[in-house]
Amino acid sequence: MRAVICPLAVLFLAVASFAVAQDKHVIDPMLPGSLDPQPLPPLKNPDAPSVPAKDLFARKSTPFPAPPRSIGGDFNGCLAGAEALPMTGPAWQVMRPSRNRYWGHPQLVRFIERFAANARQVGWNGLLVGDMAQPRGGQMPSDHTSHQIGLDADIWFAPMPDHTQSREEREFTPGTELVAADLRDVDPKIWTHGHAALIRTAAQDPVVVRILVNAAIKKALCREAGADRASDRTWLYKVRPWYGHAEHFHVQIACPAESPDCRPPAPPRPSDGCGSELDFWFKESTLHPRPGKPKPPLTLAGMPPACKPIVKAP
Ligand SMILES: [Zn+2]
Repeated sequence: MRAVICPLAVLFLAVASFAVAQDKHVIDPMLPGSLDPQPLPPLKNPDAPSVPAKDLFARKSTPFPAPPRSIGGDFNGCLAGAEALPMTGPAWQVMRPSRNRYWGHPQLVRFIERFAANARQVGWNGLLVGDMAQPRGGQMPSDHTSHQIGLDADIWFAPMPDHTQSREEREFTPGTELVAADLRDVDPKIWTHGHAALIRTAAQDPVVVRILVNAAIKKALCREAGADRASDRTWLYKVRPWYGHAEHFHVQIACPAESPDCRPPAPPRPSDGCGSELDFWFKESTLHPRPGKPKPPLTLAGMPPACKPIVKAP
């Protein structure tokens, strides 16, 4: 029987793959940076109640000078007393510095220092660090809606080069996709035990509460851990599947002790998340989701009150 290709179906496929590509950027905002980032133009009426909070936070290029405090939750909050991660450390390099998102609660910076050293112990040369938070946290101007309180960091799966990268390399080098084109497993030509060891090392750090990876990567981690049932698998509890996250993994650390307004994320379920728990992620409707309705933008009125003076201060 001859296959008849309906032109409408072709159009639908083209639109659908465009939508998925768009979604991927929403979740994996690893777009090229810039060698000459321009400051955003001033807002016409920054005090209007309808101004999206992200437009206010994106215009703050310096931290709020105060003792460090994470306020609110990952998807709705801000950060005081942020610390910058140095561009180049003993075992890390910041990527896309033009985005000015290499800020975090000092506890996050300490974690990255520690994780970079621990990763070396398992043979990983060093970390390429992507988005952390803006200087005062808050929602980012892209649709990257988490990373608001300085406790999140995106770590690239690409290994760190053995030289200190130029600004061009940091702004324009693309990430490394670990997931096969059909999204059902990792790409065996790219995936290595080193990637598994890297994620496990992050998850075993006591301050880490959650790590998000593509479901295909979670599947691979389960497979590798499955060979050794006797070993401690509790680190796998923290590693959860999410959309995108094929070029980087997202690490979230616990609320610091001296941040009383910090809202911790729900703790992971007490299971390794392997086996049939992954079924949902490989359903066709999950692999290729339809784009949802855009949410109304978050405004200051919808944020923790303590964030207003932080974003309004010069
Ligand atoms: Zn992230």
